[in-house]
Amino acid sequence: MSNFENFGLKQDLLKAINDLGFENPTPIQAQVIPYMLSNEVSDLIGLAQTGTGKTAAFGLPVLQQINVDKLETQCLILAPTRELCVQISKDLLNYSKYIEKMKITSVYGGASIEPQIRELKKGTHIIVGTPGRVLDLLKRKLVKIEKIDFLVLDEADEMLNMGFKDDLDAILSKSAKTKKTLLFSATMPNEIRKIADNYMNSPKEISVGSKNSGAENVEHHYYVVSAKDRYLALKRIVDMYPAIYGIVFCRTRKETQEIAEKLIQDGYDADALHGDLSQVQRDHVMSKFRSQHLQVLVATDVAARGLDVNNLTHIINYNLPDENDIYIHRSGRTGRAGKSGISISIIHSKELSKIKNTEKILKKNIELKKIPDGKEICKIQLMSMIDKINNVETIDNQIDTFLPLIYQKLNWLSREDLITRFVSVEFNRFLMYYSNTRDINFDVNERRDERRMGERDKGRKGERANGRRDERKTKNGERTNGRRDERSNSKGKIRLSKYFLSLGEKDGFSKYKLLEIINNSDGLAGVEVGKIEILKTHTFFEIDSNFHENAMKIFKNRRYDGKRLKIEKK
Ligand code: AMP
Repeated sequence: MSNFENFGLKQDLLKAINDLGFENPTPIQAQVIPYMLSNEVSDLIGLAQTGTGKTAAFGLPVLQQINVDKLETQCLILAPTRELCVQISKDLLNYSKYIEKMKITSVYGGASIEPQIRELKKGTHIIVGTPGRVLDLLKRKLVKIEKIDFLVLDEADEMLNMGFKDDLDAILSKSAKTKKTLLFSATMPNEIRKIADNYMNSPKEISVGSKNSGAENVEHHYYVVSAKDRYLALKRIVDMYPAIYGIVFCRTRKETQEIAEKLIQDGYDADALHGDLSQVQRDHVMSKFRSQHLQVLVATDVAARGLDVNNLTHIINYNLPDENDIYIHRSGRTGRAGKSGISISIIHSKELSKIKNTEKILKKNIELKKIPDGKEICKIQLMSMIDKINNVETIDNQIDTFLPLIYQKLNWLSREDLITRFVSVEFNRFLMYYSNTRDINFDVNERRDERRMGERDKGRKGERANGRRDERKTKNGERTNGRRDERSNSKGKIRLSKYFLSLGEKDGFSKYKLLEIINNSDGLAGVEVGKIEILKTHTFFEIDSNFHENAMKIFKNRRYDGKRLKIEKK
């Protein structure tokens, strides 16, 4: 097994990476470091996802080869965002903490240029910057790159996606001819090939994982719902993973803000990250997210770039991105540094072909999953809470003084009652929310059947085909109408029937208990419920009239606390 010592790295660097706890090199490090320290080094293209240890892969050999006694810029590192620049500088400072005199300066837009100019004027060995700001400083002759030994393009595909192509061309054409250029990218679109052809000398290509592929330890799931149910689906997915720590990607700034606000209103630890926020606001949100004070960050792609978090459990595509590259980038934010992760897409039925296309590029299966119903989610949440109770650390000597009083107050309750009540304190809100939910999964098979039939029809000619088409039209018509009804139901245009039930407050009956009966009965679970009025001796309630027979059957012969129930349709 190779380790860092075999690479010929200096003791100062070895000591620093030992302090960081790096024991074995990651695959990209194992390939890039020895190559860059060898005599035959030329330009290099590294194909690797974010989170694979790229920074140390280029950072360690660059740091090793900087002559600290010469206070001149010897390396320029370009990265797409301010956050990534800051992260790279921080990493390089960590690796070089035992190398006296090493100077690293970062320059980026969205921050005042004056302090950056002051730093540059003091002299520096390594500049880490965004292309726009570097070009600006280059024009002011404050950044000098005609003598650099190394030029690193980090997340090159992202820089192109962000429109830095012209800036990159301008910078590359002004840099030293003798330098080594190192280009890192997660994907390899043609534009990157062109940069390599124009500015690099027969680069060696190093690739970890297959080109354009997602990270190895990321599972890919998708859920199909109608567009109007997207937000409901998001909430159920988030609720399904009580320990979720993830990013929800939205298409626009407006959508990002709206979804985050809805989640906050609904009681989630969420916030929004997008370009309409000031830099100070963005920094604040990112720091809350990094310190895990937020469980869910709702973000646009641009704003989330450079947010370096290694332990995300999930990323959720609230919408499928238009480009497969963006899908790969998003999912590469989870499953980092050897951890596993799940990439989830919420799609509507028209996007099924896009999923197939993404699967081909990923060379991985994207699994169709079902949005769970309320009962399943309640079970998952409840079990997670019970696990928390099992694992909680108790501060015995602090609680001891209160225990006698607590015992005295709870003395009249049985163990079963006590457990039910403790769980209810935390859980009633959840149960109520999910007590009246419907199945929001879109029936993918049905759509596939319809499409297959449609395609077969297209291929047929003549009378026979027409005849069959007509026949099918009727059959199919019925089915589609069935679905349409279901759809209008969920928009609230349902016919409700009202019922009298011979149970009221004096029987200890409540709204919650009624919903419990409905949701635990096979023929009624998930049915739309209207108004519920609990009176002293009886109750009126409304449910979807399509379920009349089931309601009558379920309530008629039932007993409640020994009392036989009477139900009547009003
Ligand atoms: P990067 O792809 O450079 O952003 O690195 C991703 C994360 O992996 C960072 O938090 C690094 O500190 C960490 N890392 C990099 N190399 C190693 C290594 N050899 N062993 C353990 N962690 C590493």
